[in-house]
Amino acid sequence: MMGLDLIFGPSIERGPRRRRVYLTFDDGPNERATDAILGTLAAERVPAAFFMVGDHVRRFPQLARRVVGEGHMVGNHTHNHVKLHLVGRTRLRHQLEVAHNAIEWATGQRPRAFRAPHGYRSPYLRTAARELGYTVFGWTFGVFDTAKPGVEEIRRRVRKRLRPGAIVLLHDGDGYDPEGDRMQTAHALPGIIEDGRHAGYEFAPLSELLNNHS
Ligand SMILES: [Zn+2]
Repeated sequence: MMGLDLIFGPSIERGPRRRRVYLTFDDGPNERATDAILGTLAAERVPAAFFMVGDHVRRFPQLARRVVGEGHMVGNHTHNHVKLHLVGRTRLRHQLEVAHNAIEWATGQRPRAFRAPHGYRSPYLRTAARELGYTVFGWTFGVFDTAKPGVEEIRRRVRKRLRPGAIVLLHDGDGYDPEGDRMQTAHALPGIIEDGRHAGYEFAPLSELLNNHS
């Protein structure tokens, strides 16, 4: 991936190969799923990272605020989930800044992490991310939970693919539909946590992988 990194800038796709794994949720906040997921995370004392769509943050600012208040990391996932490889420098910059401002407005915190919708990076992303002070994250694996394959199937896919350092991509929202249904993912989460712990993994905060972690 070195060649791609030179063009698009670096992105973190996996943590150190210790028995630590990282839960991440994209495309929220979402009224039902984010609420349910936060409840599970609190009950299990598990940290997570939420890469939010700025437009959804504007719609549900109290949920974004609650995510931060409960100790989780909020990252930027663009203003309205555009595919970054299709846009020019100005529009890319605008997408990042509008979402950045929405997150800061809603949570009182400047986001320090970014994840590109669908993983589509762009040569312009590197500069914009550096100027905004972002660490760019990818993921180790996703489980296509957005296709709603069933609660047990989502759980099974995570269990099969979990490995040391894994950054797990899940979805608490729909990038395009603020009312999108992600309750299968929410309902799969308790089992995912149980399986991970049973396999000897600790769920760790993604913030420990920030470039300028402090
Ligand atoms: Zn997304």
